[in-house]
Amino acid sequence: MRLTSKVFTDLAIWMIAFGLGIGLVFPFFLRALGVPIDLVMSPGFVAACLTAGALAGTFNQALARWVVGSRLRLLAERMDFVAANLRSSESFDHHSCGPDRCRIPDDSDDEIGASARAFNAMVHALAESYRTEQAVQSFSDLMVSRIELGPLAEEALRHLMTETGASGGALLLEEDGELRVRARQGLREDEGFVRGDQLRMAMEEGGIRLINIPEGLRVDGVVMEFRPLEVLIVPILYKEVALAAVVLASATSFPEGTRVRLEIFRRALSLALRNAIAHDNLQRLAALDPLTGLFNRRFGLQRLAEEFSRAVRTDVPLAVLMLDIDHFKKINDTYGHLAGDRAIVKLARLVRSMLREGDVVLRYGGEEFMIVLPGASCNDARAMAQRLRHAVEDLVITQREHSFRMTISIGAASYPELNADNQEAFVQVADERLYRAKESGRNCVVAG
Ligand code: GH3
Ligand code: MG
Ligand code: MG
Repeated sequence: MRLTSKVFTDLAIWMIAFGLGIGLVFPFFLRALGVPIDLVMSPGFVAACLTAGALAGTFNQALARWVVGSRLRLLAERMDFVAANLRSSESFDHHSCGPDRCRIPDDSDDEIGASARAFNAMVHALAESYRTEQAVQSFSDLMVSRIELGPLAEEALRHLMTETGASGGALLLEEDGELRVRARQGLREDEGFVRGDQLRMAMEEGGIRLINIPEGLRVDGVVMEFRPLEVLIVPILYKEVALAAVVLASATSFPEGTRVRLEIFRRALSLALRNAIAHDNLQRLAALDPLTGLFNRRFGLQRLAEEFSRAVRTDVPLAVLMLDIDHFKKINDTYGHLAGDRAIVKLARLVRSMLREGDVVLRYGGEEFMIVLPGASCNDARAMAQRLRHAVEDLVITQREHSFRMTISIGAASYPELNADNQEAFVQVADERLYRAKESGRNCVVAG
């Protein structure tokens, strides 16, 4: 029952009233114990009892105010501090809200202690929620700032490892129905764990899977540079289609709440990966010739321009081979257009297989290819051209019941032997030499 607007004033009124009541009842109590009536009922004694009762009530109230009030004041102060912290900054600054500023000592086993525990738990939950929000925000910012698949995979993995405290991890992308490692850290080799059963099952189910690894047991196909205690497999799906998987491994247990946070991260990652894959596909479509999978002319010439300016800048040789199938019209006419296509594809594959990592090959026209050989001198180019010519002579194309062979003519130009100003002049010379190779009977190389 409330008497005033203040709880402690109510308490004071009740305590003093209770003290006065005791003071009033006390003389009757003494009378019942046999103390003479003229003594217990004397105005002086009754006044003394009432005064003592009122004083005891007042003293009790002061004690309650001192013991309980100080705790409540602390709670109010801390609440104010947390509220001010929330109001003043965009995000909850949990650094300035350490135990000394935002926590209440939890040292009593009653309602006061329960309030302290509830308050501390609330501050902890608040700090956690802000930490998650900040992490998600910075992860989302990172995701939208990356459109290239490779850097995105690297950054996403790095971020997820930091967030979860993982000591090793990998990001695998689904390509042609298979998961291939696109980024990894702290894993010794990729091979085994891509085929791991746990990974396959997680991808089928679509949910985050936590694997506890008992002492002495090897992880199913996961090869780490350390001994993991827990492994998290996070399938990344977009509209229920598997795009990728993140594998995170920790030498200790993952912190509480990791799975909940990963659920949020994987939503952002799925969208970002979807965009990056679409971008990658578009770039590939724009750069590649659909029949052979080689660079198309436009993109290939860009690559040549880059290689040419690098060669001039660093004074390293560069060679270009122009290659054309001899009498290709006749192949088309004799065996059909499909057989002609097949010959082009097989030639492209053969050429690619004979080149080194940094060499560039592009489909320049119908059955005409250009090969860019960074670092190759005039002699290297000539030797390479001859090797190619011989390999093509040995190549047998089979289409249904037919099988046939073909030959090629090659024109070669190399820098610095040919001191061209730009790559166009360079290509023009290689083209003229190809023409001369054709003129001089085909199935030959002209390199000077
Ligand atoms: P040469 O020895 O002088 O090069 O004789 P050629 O018959 O090869 O003459 P040319 O290089 O001018 O002929 C190219 C032919 O290649 C013409 C075209 O019908 C055919 N061709 C171009 N692109 C394709 C293609 O994608 N597939 C097929 N099957 N044929 C193509
Ligand atoms: Mg030809
Ligand atoms: Mg041609």
